[in-house]
Parts: sequence; structure tokens; C-alpha cells
Amino acid sequence: MPSFHQKTVLVTGGAGFLGSHLCDRLLGEGHKVLSLDNFHTGSRLNHLHHADNPDFSLIEADVADPLPHLQVDEIYHLACPASPPHYQESPVSTLRTCLLGAINVLDLAVRTGARVMLASTSEVYGDPLVHPQPEGYFGNVNSFGERACYDEGKRAAEALFHAYAGEKGADIRIVRIFNTYGPRMQPDDGRVVSNFVVEALQDQPITIYGDGSQTRSFCYVDDLIEGFVRLMASDVRTPVNLGNPGEFTMTELAALVVAMTGSRSPISYLPLPADDPRRRQPDISKAERLLGWKPTVSLEAGLGPTIAHFRKAVVPSTASASL
Ligand code: NAD
Ligand code: UDP
Repeated sequence: MPSFHQKTVLVTGGAGFLGSHLCDRLLGEGHKVLSLDNFHTGSRLNHLHHADNPDFSLIEADVADPLPHLQVDEIYHLACPASPPHYQESPVSTLRTCLLGAINVLDLAVRTGARVMLASTSEVYGDPLVHPQPEGYFGNVNSFGERACYDEGKRAAEALFHAYAGEKGADIRIVRIFNTYGPRMQPDDGRVVSNFVVEALQDQPITIYGDGSQTRSFCYVDDLIEGFVRLMASDVRTPVNLGNPGEFTMTELAALVVAMTGSRSPISYLPLPADDPRRRQPDISKAERLLGWKPTVSLEAGLGPTIAHFRKAVVPSTASASL
């Protein structure tokens, strides 16, 4: 039996939704984990259960500032606000995080010889003209719109990873993540699954933006983390889509959430934000072929634990509480 090699792994954005699940997974496998976060959208509470774990350390730092001198074997670079309301709060700060964060992390990887993975996004495809989206599609992105700070920031980060690989020999991995949900999303995150579930649990109107006919493909967090770990262990140095190909309209998602929560929420329609992609669905044939990966959790199955998480996290509205 091969002997186990304990790695030291840096997770930037480790206190966030995806980062904290990744830290759990890596610690569970016996590795040392350094979680670096500035707590912009993440929470110390996501790491509370590791407080006494000698293999776990938390570093409070901004990834856009010069990084501490660390010796690590692997880096998962997740630090970046992911929800449109958060990344649009300060577009300049989002671009700083995407660009300077990538440079700092890549410099650290080159210095230490660590393998480094970028958490990129399906947003690099923008409002796609090709459906579903394969990795070879170059995208349809507005560089001058509300989403540009994030979409173009991630595209530039991918370009930086590519440049560092070619010029400085960085050992890179790039994952293009499609909409992922699950426990530990913050109630005020602002993305659609958390908004709909929180609204439903409080019997507040479900806020559909636009007419609800736009689509997204929702991946459960455990499936995604499995894909992260497989990609990191692989020799695939080009971008890989990870997501669940099941495609749903926002109207369908709202109906499912209402049914599963037993909510009495009405639907309310709000204006569609500018540049909101019409459709999104990953082509995951590359991940299936090269990583032997495909998602196993259906939207209905994944919404169960997600709703249970929000039941604990949100206080019922006065109306529901008085029933
Ligand atoms: P999240 O907001 O929960 O986590 C982001 C984490 O990064 C937070 O803990 C936040 O405090 C931290 N952070 C932000 N800016 C930072 C900075 N400058 N320095 C240090 N820490 C910083 O979001 P998430 O859903 O967990 O997303 C994690 C990563 O995955 C992001 O890079 C995001 O772009 C990418 N991604 C996520 C999804 C998804 O559906 N969840 C989809 C595509 C891409
Ligand atoms: N959306 C919605 N109601 C909400 C939040 C989002 O209808 O309360 C829509 C949003 O306009 C988009 C889809 O849901 O069409 C997914 O939005 P999210 O912010 O979760 O992710 P992204 O647009 O970045 O894929």
C-alpha cells in the first residue's frame, strides 16, 4: 500500500461557502490546511469546528496585498466575492482581488513550487451564443457592463495563469465553476438559491428577476468539491468545466423551492439586471473523460440539506413565527 503523504495546502477564500467545504475535505484526508481570507463575504463560523485542529490555521489577509512567506505544496485560489450584489459593491476592489490576487498567488506558487488551481467561472462565457458551453467556446462578454469587473477579472486571472505557466513554469489548474449551491451559503449572499430559499422560509415574496425564463444549471457543493480534488490530482493544465448539466428556468426553481419548503410565498417579478445571461449549461464531457467526474446529486436532493441549513440560519418572519 502506498504511504500517505501529508501535504500543506493553502486555500484562499477558505472561510467562504466553497472554500470552507474544501477545507473540510482536505483536513478529512489528513492534510494540513491554511485558510487565507479577509472575511469580506466569508465567516469565521465556517471554521469553528476546526478551532482545536492542529492541522488547521486561519490567516486573516487580503489576497490582493503581498502574501506572507508560506511554504505550501498546493494552492486552491478561491478568494473573490462570487455573488453579483457583492462583486458589484466595489468593482474596483473586485478587479484588484481578481488581478493582484492571481499575481500574488502565482508568485507564491512559483517561489514554492506549489501546484495552483484557479477557481474561475462559467461567467467567462458571458451571455453565451453557444449552448451548452464547452471549454473551447471563447464567450460573449461585455467588458463595459455591470458584470465586467467579475467576468473580465476572472478572464484576466485565467490569462495570468496561462502566462505564468508558459513563462515561469507554474504548475496550473483552472476550474470553470457553474452555479453551485449548498449549506453554508450566507442568507444575505444575494444569489438565486439562497434568496429563494430564505424568502420561501419567511413566506416573503419570491423575487424573480425578469420573466423567470432565463436558465441556470445548479451543482451541489459536494459534487463540485469532488471535482476540485480530482482536477488538482490530475495532469490537466487547461480549463475544465465543473457543473451539473441539469438546466432549470428561474420559474421552475422558484416552484421547486416553494413546494419543498411548504411556503405560502407569492411570486414577485423585479426588473432583470443588465447583461444577465439568458441561458447557462455546462458541457462536462471534458471532466467526464479526463477526470472520470460527473455530478451525482440532483437539484431536488441537494435542496434538502440546503433548505435545512437555512432553516437554522434564518429567523422566521413575524407572520410565520406567530402561526
Ligand atoms: P463566497 O463569497 O462564499 O467566498 C469567497 C471567499 O473569498 C469569502 O470567504 C471572502 O471573504 C473571500 N475573499 C473575497 N475577497 C478576498 C480578498 N481580497 N482577500 C481574501 N479573501 C477574500 O463565494 P463562493 O461561492 O464560495 O466562491 C468561491 C470562489 O469560487 C470564488 O472565486 C468564485 O468566483 C468562484 N465561483 C463560485 C461559484 C458558485 O456558484 N459558488 C461559481 C463560479 C465561480
Ligand atoms: N435571480 C432571481 N432572483 C434573485 C436572484 C437572482 O431571479 O433573487 C436570477 C438572476 O437574475 C439570474 C439567476 O437568477 O438570472 C441566477 O442568479 P445568481 O445571482 O444566482 O447567479 P448568476 O447570475 O451569477 O449566474
